[in-house]
Amino acid sequence: MISRLVSLQFFLTFGVLIFLNYFLEIKLLLLARFFPKYGGEVEAFFLALYGAYIFQKMLTSPSRSKVRLRIWTVFSVIFFLQLLVGLIGIESFLQTGKLHWPIPAYIVVGPVFRGGGLFMVFLLLSTIVLVGPAWCSFLCYIGSWDQHLAQIQFRRSRLSFFASLSSFGRGYILLGVIFVALLFNWMQISYFFTIYASLFFIAISLFAFYLSYRKRFMFHCTRFCPIGFLTNLFGRVNPFRMRIDDSCTLCGHCVAKCRYDALNMERVKNKHPSITCTLCADCLEVCDSKSISFYLWSGNKKVEKIFFMLVISLHVVFLGVARI
Ligand code: SF4
Ligand code: SF4
Ligand code: SF4
Repeated sequence: MISRLVSLQFFLTFGVLIFLNYFLEIKLLLLARFFPKYGGEVEAFFLALYGAYIFQKMLTSPSRSKVRLRIWTVFSVIFFLQLLVGLIGIESFLQTGKLHWPIPAYIVVGPVFRGGGLFMVFLLLSTIVLVGPAWCSFLCYIGSWDQHLAQIQFRRSRLSFFASLSSFGRGYILLGVIFVALLFNWMQISYFFTIYASLFFIAISLFAFYLSYRKRFMFHCTRFCPIGFLTNLFGRVNPFRMRIDDSCTLCGHCVAKCRYDALNMERVKNKHPSITCTLCADCLEVCDSKSISFYLWSGNKKVEKIFFMLVISLHVVFLGVARI
């Protein structure tokens, strides 16, 4: 059964990559740029092979949380390495050659400020339709670092004020940055001033990362990043849900495992994680009674294999095509 699913996942990823390679004007795959004849096909084949390997790992590994964080980190490192190589002058490693800040919030802020360029917004929305909030546990080039920081063993900090902030505060941050972008556009602010504004935003982001380190949950993603708010909110249009069934023994292991601050004992008793759940699946591996799992809406059939197939395919496609 598993080998059939792995083969299916290979062909799904390969098919999407080949489609992108043939039908888009811009060459998204790197090898297609250097070796126009068969470079794209070769890269698509090896990426799909990698996808099949990690899909199989996600289905069978007893520590899939480690597998997920590892592949997510590799994705981020490759993304930033390409940006670095592009910045030193090898433009094939950039997507459009038009540099912009690698800040997730700019997916929304950028088009508002520029008055166009909605490609990333459509990409974000279509992944939300396919895999809900899992953009924030498999696909974003920043989030893995937040999880690394949140996992560093450190005694719980007394900075309780920050931990008590609501995850909905990110909605106000979203409105705030959109307002500033509109204002800058209307005032026709010079490009250099936008650099200072971006540096200010990055400074606050760094403080939020520091709080992730202190609080041992992903403070940056669950309390600061406006894109995290969007994926959590609009993720509800997607049918995948994480739920706890009646076999739960209230052991609390999943609460300790979740770095997205989506579980506490009250939530466990209510059988649903909070809105900050990103379907990362880390909690599944610590539940001895297999009481927590993926479902479609309120259905009773566990669907984690389908979810992993979709999200790993997307992850691998992003690995091949995501660059600035
Ligand atoms: S919350 Fe923001 S930084 Fe975190 S993973 Fe999501 S988009 Fe990326
Ligand atoms: S509840 Fe589980 S799936 Fe949701 S974010 Fe927490 S660990 Fe991940
Ligand atoms: S780990 Fe499983 S059994 Fe324990 S509290 Fe969580 S869902 Fe319930």
